[in-house]
Amino acid sequence: MAARRLVIGRRLLQRMLEHCLEEKPLEACGILAGTNGYVNAVYATDNARRSPVSYQVDPEQQEEALRRIAAAGEGLLGIYHSHPSAKAVPSRSDIEYAVHYPDAVRLIISLDGPIDVGAFLIRDGQVEPVHLHIRDGLGGTYYDLRQRCGT
Ligand SMILES: [Zn+2]
Repeated sequence: MAARRLVIGRRLLQRMLEHCLEEKPLEACGILAGTNGYVNAVYATDNARRSPVSYQVDPEQQEEALRRIAAAGEGLLGIYHSHPSAKAVPSRSDIEYAVHYPDAVRLIISLDGPIDVGAFLIRDGQVEPVHLHIRDGLGGTYYDLRQRCGT
């Protein structure tokens, strides 16, 4: 049964947001891990497409993240990416390319105007919203797997 909600600590979300701002104007991306819908680790990765309108998690960094997630006894909860100049809803290509990991929540962070975060499940071209709970005082660790630094 796929997660219908995702819980993340405010501090961890803030760190993800900084990652997205660092990569602007390109889309940023990364991986969310944890258990029972609670995000315990964020892995920032390079966008292999280096594009302002689409993303692909760097395949080697994705492997590295999945190795660490398995070693920690956690699961892949989600994949996040930014929309530097679009709303926090899946783009056509987000829906088209969401063929792997159908149970992973797609978190989209919009930097277009006031920062906005959307969470979705995308399966067989269908988009279903997921409840995102942002909690104060919840821990979690941010790992930066990127090879290229900042801007
Ligand atoms: Zn997108």
